[in-house]
Amino acid sequence: MSAIRRPKQEYHEQTTRRMERHLPTPEWNVRQKVALACRILAADGHESALAGQITARGEKPGTYYMLRFGLGFDEATASSILLVDDDLNVLEGEGMPNPSNRFHLWIYRVRQDVNCIIHTHPPYVSALSMIGEPLAVAHMDHTMFFDDCAYLPEWPGVPIGDEEGEIISKAIGSKRSILLAHHGQLVACSSPEEATQMAVFMERAAKLQVFARAIGPIKPIRAELAKEAHDYRLKPKAVGATFHYFARKILKTEPEVLE
Ligand SMILES: [Zn+2]
Repeated sequence: MSAIRRPKQEYHEQTTRRMERHLPTPEWNVRQKVALACRILAADGHESALAGQITARGEKPGTYYMLRFGLGFDEATASSILLVDDDLNVLEGEGMPNPSNRFHLWIYRVRQDVNCIIHTHPPYVSALSMIGEPLAVAHMDHTMFFDDCAYLPEWPGVPIGDEEGEIISKAIGSKRSILLAHHGQLVACSSPEEATQMAVFMERAAKLQVFARAIGPIKPIRAELAKEAHDYRLKPKAVGATFHYFARKILKTEPEVLE
């Protein structure tokens, strides 16, 4: 009996169809997704006291969800997510937003495709940010960053002003992510699910880059294969399933996150 051989494109299409049919989509609202994203990143080692932020567009134009300032990612619940306007005035919820979130607003203004931004200072991304090198995309698991991770080689200072917002929003351009020298990472994505996946995997990519550089030079991968894998890893249903998996791990022990 001869083996079945088909063009690879057929398998891509078949996989997309099957994902659409079989992968469930939980009914969480944006507040719940932002709170889950906070807990997922805390569990993944992105916690850095009060540094780092996760924001998402609200349903009304010019409104944004963000965690109440003073709480760590590991303390987030849906009810601690504030709704603010585009000058960081609180519209719904108690407390104040993180003043550093101002630079997110600059990105939302110029990127209509962006619905969620995550900025963190996890250890391996931070280490990589100190040596003057962009993120290397040379492993299959990190191809979601292929031609999709910008690099800001100069540190513009603490991002609480408008100048930093302008610099970072220009530097990321139309890409989904950026490595910020002497600072950390930022991802600007179409959904909380996609942003969470990108933030988690950017730290893993940086970790492998640190490991690989210790044992030898990093060899590049072929651009056309990297592009194919990039698109495969970012299929919305696959991204949703990855978020759902991360969320289930949190919900086993921290179900209050949805309240
Ligand atoms: Zn920062």
